[in-house]
Amino acid sequence: MAEIKVLSQAVADKIAAGEVAERPAAVVKELVENSIDAGADRITVEIQNGGIKYIRIEDNGKGILANELEFAFVRHATSKLQSIEDLFSITTMGFRGEALASICAVADVEVMTKTKDADEGVYMTLKHGIPSEKETVACNFGTTMIIQNLFANVPARMKFLKKDSTEAGYIADVLGRIALAKPEIAFRYICDGTEVFSTSGDGQLKNTILNIYGMDVAKGLMEVQHFEHGVNVCGVVGKAELARGNRTRQTLLVNGRYIKNHVVAKVVEEAYRNILMTGKFPFFVINIELAPEMVDVNVHPAKTEIKFANEKEVYDIVYHAVKNTLYTVPKEQTIEKTEKTEKSEEVLKNNNYNKFETSRATERSLIADFMKNTIPDPKKVTPLAFREPTKEEAAFVEKMVLTQKMGQEELEVKLQEKSVSEVDETLQLIEKKAETKIIGQVFNTYVIVEQANKVFLIDQHAAHERKRFEELKKDYMENKVLGQMLLVPIVLDVDNSERQLVLENAEKLSNMGFGIEEFGSNSIIIHETPVLAGENEIKELLLEILSALRDGRPSGILSFEERALDMISCKYAIKANKKLSIPEMDGILKIVEDLEKAGITTCPHGRPIKIEFDKRDIEKMFKRIV
Ligand code: ADP
Ligand code: MG
Repeated sequence: MAEIKVLSQAVADKIAAGEVAERPAAVVKELVENSIDAGADRITVEIQNGGIKYIRIEDNGKGILANELEFAFVRHATSKLQSIEDLFSITTMGFRGEALASICAVADVEVMTKTKDADEGVYMTLKHGIPSEKETVACNFGTTMIIQNLFANVPARMKFLKKDSTEAGYIADVLGRIALAKPEIAFRYICDGTEVFSTSGDGQLKNTILNIYGMDVAKGLMEVQHFEHGVNVCGVVGKAELARGNRTRQTLLVNGRYIKNHVVAKVVEEAYRNILMTGKFPFFVINIELAPEMVDVNVHPAKTEIKFANEKEVYDIVYHAVKNTLYTVPKEQTIEKTEKTEKSEEVLKNNNYNKFETSRATERSLIADFMKNTIPDPKKVTPLAFREPTKEEAAFVEKMVLTQKMGQEELEVKLQEKSVSEVDETLQLIEKKAETKIIGQVFNTYVIVEQANKVFLIDQHAAHERKRFEELKKDYMENKVLGQMLLVPIVLDVDNSERQLVLENAEKLSNMGFGIEEFGSNSIIIHETPVLAGENEIKELLLEILSALRDGRPSGILSFEERALDMISCKYAIKANKKLSIPEMDGILKIVEDLEKAGITTCPHGRPIKIEFDKRDIEKMFKRIV
C-alpha cells in the first residue's frame, strides 16, 4: 500500500482548489469514490433526512492503517498522488487529498477501519476537524464513515440546501450513475430506512441498469461497441420509447468515471436525429475509454467536467458508434437480447451473484408474483372495450354522421321558432352549409374544405386537440372529476426523482385525473387516468407531465396546468397521419366552426388550426386576374 504523504505546495497550488462538500450528494460522491479507490466491491450508502442529518458509507476495501488514520483527514494528504507527473495519468477517482479534510471541517465524522492484515480495527471521531484519541475495535476489514450534522456549523451553506427529499434524490442520482460506471461493485442505497436500490455487482451493465431503472428500461436497450483510433466506445443506448423530456437518464463515463460533457450528450442526440422528436432526449450509458493522457480531469474541482485532448475526433467516434447501433442492429438481435436480460434476472433471483440478501431483483420477482396473482398481465389480456380505440372512433363517427344528417329541412323547422336576428344567423348558416364542400384530406393530416369563395386547410390534430383542451379546462375549473378507472392498472417503472415528483405532486396529479400509488421502491401503479388510451400512451403522458412538473416553469403561453391538460388532450385527439372518412372530416369541420364561434383559432400552443385561401388569391397566383 502506498504511504500517505502531504503534497508539496507546488503540487497543491497546481491543483485547482474547489469546494468539495457543496451538498450531501457531493459528500456521498467523494466518500464512495474513496471506497472504490480502496478496492471495495461492496459499498453501502445509508442516509437520513437527505443526508443532512446522517450519512453512512460502509465498504469492504483495503482499509486505512491505524497509525495513518488522522493523516487521511489532513488537507492535501493523499496516498494516490506522489508527484506532479502523476497528475497526468490518474487512474484513481480521487487524488487531491481534500475530501476528508473538507468534510470533517463541516460535519461530525466517525470512522472505523481495519486493514486485512491488522488484528483489530481502529475507531476515531472528529469534531470540527479535531480528531479524538484512537480506540481499537473489533470489526470486519474495510472502512465505515459516518457523517452527521452536515453544515450545522456553516449556516450560509445550510441555507442553500433544498428539501430533504430533493437532496436524497440528488444522492440517488449520483450513486446510480456511479453504480452504472462500476457494474462490478455491488451498491446498496438506503434512504430513511428503506432500500431504494441495490445492484448485484455481477459486472453486467445491463443487470445494473435493470437494478436501477427496472425492467421497462432493461428491455429497451441496444448495445454500443465501437473501437477506432485508440478510442473505445461501449455501453448501451435506449430505443426511442425510453426517451424522456429531460437528460436525467443520460450517463456518460470516461475511463469508467462518471462525468458531464454537454457536447458528447449533444453528439449522441444528433445520432438520434429523425428517430426522436425535438425535446425528447435518449437514454444512454456510454463509456469512452482512451489513454488517460488524452483526458484532463482536473478542469473542474468536482471532477465531473473534463476535456479531451483530441476533442473533435472523440466526438466523431462517439457519433458513429451510436449511429451504427441505431441503424444496423437487426430486430431479431434486440429480441434475443431482451430474452437474455430476462434470463439474467432469473439468475439474479437465484441469488448466486447477489452480494446482498435483499435485492432489487428479488423485489421485482415479488412484484411479478403480485401481478400474476392479483391482476392480469396487461400484455396478455385482450384489449378491453375502452382500450379499443375503434369504439371511441365509432362513437365519434356516429356523432358526425348525425350532424351531417341535420340537413336543410331541420334547420328550416328550427327557423320558424327563432327570433328575427336568429333567423338571419340561421339563414346564413344554411347558405354556408349549402356552399360548404369537403374536398378531402391531404397527407392524411389536413382536411380541405371549399366554402363560398374560400378554400380551407384544417390541421385535424390541432383542431381536435384544441376542442378537447377547452372541454378539459372547463371541467378542471369546475373541479369535475377528470379521471377514469382503469380495469387493468398499469405498472410504470420510475427512477427515484420521478417517484419523488409523483409523491410531492400527488394532489396536482389527482386533480388532473391521475390515480397513482407507490408500488415497490422503483415502480408506481396507475389505476386512474384522464384519458383512455393505450398503455404506452398513458405511460408516456404521465412521464411528460412529470417532466413538466420538474421544469416547474410555464412554457410559453401556457401555465403548468394548461400544459398538462394540453398533453392529455394531445393524447386523446385524432393524430396527424391518420386517414379520415368523410363523416370524420365533417366532424373536424364542425369542431373548427364551434371553436371559431368561441373566438378560438389556434391549438393550445398557438399554432393555427385553419389556413384560408381566397379564390382571388388563387386566381392571382394563376395570373387570371392582376
Ligand atoms: P483523496 O481521495 O483525494 O486521496 P481524500 O481526502 O478523499 O483524498 O482521502 C484521503 C486519503 O484517505 C486517501 O488517499 C486514502 O488513502 C484514505 N482513504 C479515504 N477513504 C478511504 C477508504 N474508504 N478506504 C481506504 N482508504 C481511504
Ligand atoms: Mg477522495
